Amino acid sequence: MNGSLEIGRIFGIPVRLHITFLLVIPLFAWIIGSQINLTVDFIEGIFAIPIDRTIIDSGFVPYILGAIVALTLFFCVFVHELAHSLIARANGIQINSITLIIFGGVASMEETLPDPKVELPMAIAGPLTSLGLGIISWILAYSVGFLIQTPPVAGVLVYCFGYLAILNILLFAFNLLPAFPMDGGRVLRAWLAKRMPLHRATRIASDIGKGFAIIFGIIGIFTFSFILIIIAFFIYIGAGQESSMVTTNFLLQDVTVGEIMSREVMSVEPALPLTGVIRLMYTTKHLGFPVIDRGDLIGIITLADIHKTNDIDREAMQVRDVMSRQPIITISPSASVTEALRIMTMQNIGRIPVVEDGRIVGIVTRTDILTVLELKDIN
Ligand SMILES: [Zn+2]
Repeated sequence: MNGSLEIGRIFGIPVRLHITFLLVIPLFAWIIGSQINLTVDFIEGIFAIPIDRTIIDSGFVPYILGAIVALTLFFCVFVHELAHSLIARANGIQINSITLIIFGGVASMEETLPDPKVELPMAIAGPLTSLGLGIISWILAYSVGFLIQTPPVAGVLVYCFGYLAILNILLFAFNLLPAFPMDGGRVLRAWLAKRMPLHRATRIASDIGKGFAIIFGIIGIFTFSFILIIIAFFIYIGAGQESSMVTTNFLLQDVTVGEIMSREVMSVEPALPLTGVIRLMYTTKHLGFPVIDRGDLIGIITLADIHKTNDIDREAMQVRDVMSRQPIITISPSASVTEALRIMTMQNIGRIPVVEDGRIVGIVTRTDILTVLELKDIN
């Protein structure tokens, strides 16, 4: 993830801080600090323990306590992510890193297609950890309330532990909402995936996730809750991205380039005039051709290359004047179609010549791949 720095490693997993995290801690400290009387009343009510406010109420202390609660909360979020990661790793999934960002943590995993059997325990591990942390904080809040005899010190500790208890239990409950790609949504997807193909399950879970995102967004706008609006935004975008990623990878998982490429490659010679290429595009409806010189692939010419010339020059130009030369990106017929799609997306190209033993044997285009996707989807 860009804009993040590594702060250490735990169980061999790199832990990173995203730049937004550094902004959110002062913000949280300020929000928590400025609402301190409200939250002290609330915690007193829930725990039925009187809280001494001598220290809590003086000077900058509310904001210092705000910073402590915020940092500890993010530590709890980190433990939550760690729980997901360790269960994943125990099931053979490689963990690249855990990054703490504005609204929580993200564990980056090496995984193209989720296995429902692994996903269920992996997804549920995080919320259960939050519940556990909530219960521990709850017990600590009570213990210090009764054990520590200095009321101002006891007051500070009950406040901090009580606050963390409530936040962790909220985290537990919120994460279990079936709003894919949040944890509850992953549980739902795993449950659905036992009953239908993975991409269908993901699509349904992602549609439900988007519905939740819209509801969160509306609530966020009406309650002026900036954080809820950001969460809604991330859920909406994340649900869509993951659904299309899973659909593509699932449907194309066993398909090779050789199976779907066009074998009749229409190529052009470097000396062909551009007007001839344009005529060829009209008649064949292909918008790009490999350029072959005495049997060797020396370049590619596409409509985009021709667009770069002006009408007057075009009359006098040949293929070799405008074609894209080095490096020519090619792919082997045994490569997977998902790999071809990845290269096309990364290089922003629409077609790749398929080459075997130095000879061009076919061509694969983005349109071909999308057509295969559509055909596969009807089964
Ligand atoms: Zn989680």
